[in-house]
Amino acid sequence: MSEPDYDYDVIVIGAGGAGLAASVSAAQAGARVLLLESEDEIGGSTQLSAGLLTASATSVQRGLGVEDSPLRMFQHYMDLNGWRLRPGPVRMFCEESGAIVDWLLDLGVEIPAQVSRSAHEPGLTRAGVEDVWRGHVPRDQGYGLVQVLDRARARLDVDLALGSRVEDLVIRDGAVRGVVIGGEEATAPAVVVASGGLAADPDLVRRFLPDAEIAGDALFVVAAPGARGDHIGLAERHGLGLFGEGWGLLLVTAEFQRYHHWQSGFPPPSRIHVGPDGRRCMDEDAPYAVSPGILKDHGGWVWSVFDDTARAALPEGYADWTPARILEEADKGVVLRADTLAGLAELMGVPARNLEAAVDRFNTLFTEGHDEDFLRHESLAAKGADPHLAPIATGPFHAVRMLPAELVCTHTGLEIDASTRVLATDGRPVPGLYAAGEAAGGILGERYVGGGNSVAHALVLGRVAGREAAARAATLSPRPQEATA
Ligand SMILES: Cc1cc2nc3c(=O)[nH]c(=O)nc-3n(C[C@H](O)[C@H](O)[C@H](O)COP(=O)(O)OP(=O)(O)OC[C@H]3O[C@@H](n4cnc5c(N)ncnc54)[C@H](O)[C@@H]3O)c2cc1C
Repeated sequence: MSEPDYDYDVIVIGAGGAGLAASVSAAQAGARVLLLESEDEIGGSTQLSAGLLTASATSVQRGLGVEDSPLRMFQHYMDLNGWRLRPGPVRMFCEESGAIVDWLLDLGVEIPAQVSRSAHEPGLTRAGVEDVWRGHVPRDQGYGLVQVLDRARARLDVDLALGSRVEDLVIRDGAVRGVVIGGEEATAPAVVVASGGLAADPDLVRRFLPDAEIAGDALFVVAAPGARGDHIGLAERHGLGLFGEGWGLLLVTAEFQRYHHWQSGFPPPSRIHVGPDGRRCMDEDAPYAVSPGILKDHGGWVWSVFDDTARAALPEGYADWTPARILEEADKGVVLRADTLAGLAELMGVPARNLEAAVDRFNTLFTEGHDEDFLRHESLAAKGADPHLAPIATGPFHAVRMLPAELVCTHTGLEIDASTRVLATDGRPVPGLYAAGEAAGGILGERYVGGGNSVAHALVLGRVAGREAAARAATLSPRPQEATA
């Protein structure tokens, strides 16, 4: 397909969601593909994820009678991000999102047309701030997605090299010619950068996501170890544009948490979040898409207050949120504990009368199951939870800081156009260079949209980048027949 002196038609850097999707789609278009993965196993952060992906106008939505369109998704996506994104690439993302679901279903991913109430239940869910339900939960989560994509990769004879960290790009005469690995060149007329984000590199996190410092020592990273931000070095060495500085997904967690909530467990439903003035300041179940932004308006973090009945009722079996662990953290002083709300307010440094009034109001609202102040009953109902909550009434009372401390993914990537072509700092595309997933910038914004923004972004862009890369290689020599997986 390519000039005889190229080793491959397409080289893909990184075997996570974006890289696997790119490899499969390039191979489906007939390209000879090499997939390079720095770690000893494939999957990256995609494999660790719930696999939840946001998409519009899908066959799954239609099966449930949900009316949707790419234009509607686009409007919602852009509005939520204050139109501070690249509209062309975002439009492409929304338009291609429906097709990605069918493509995955064809490859063997299972997403049944049934309502799902969590990221663990296959089906269609509402996990974020979607205007309509767009969260598609695949069976076996991110691991399942990666396995299906990898089987397609193997069927299509894509070469995979593990333990192969790409060191650099080969760019000659202004166009990409391949990559450098182990000091040697591997050549191809098209390269897809799908090396993930930068969450695992503390220096890059300080530079590109300063909000991570709000959490101080409580910060913990759940992204895969390969998320070392290698695309940043490529940008700096080759004059490539970057987009999305300062943005990423930090989930709000208690100060003592160290794991994703699947392991950490969950705070008690009967809890109230108050700001530094002791007043209730948010829906305690606000979508993760928007809660870090709400916290910022209150100085970066808020207090979560709950009583001893709620503490004692926490289920066992989790790493962090258990009855005994709360007492241990109280002994350490991380959880504050006092017999009365007034005593707790003093420890928290907030006005006691404000905290008492906030708790009284909370108890009244949730006895009735209707939160007219913050509409939390709607968030609870979306999870299938009872909006009637037990009152916060039995001492000792507890307070813990809730911080944007769980670093999931980062959004500073190589600036791309609507065909996933990487742009140089002068705005011109670099011939042959494509980017997808967290390594690509322009679509993931300040606000994480819906449930499943980042997995959808990785898979949609990966599929498009693979297709585009194969098409470029095909222009350099006659196109063979397309392959099927
Ligand atoms: C615990 C957890 C849960 C999540 N849940 C969800 C969710 O349900 N829905 C959602 O939308 N998002 C979720 N996310 C975020 C989402 O999973 C990721 O943002 C997305 O999957 C990233 O895909 P990617 O292909 O860009 O990167 P990755 O999947 O991380 O893949 C990048 C790959 O590139 C490799 N690599 C890096 N550098 C090099 C190099 N120089 N050479 C060769 N290989 C290299 C890495 O080792 C890695 O395998 C979650 C993340 C985590 C950590």
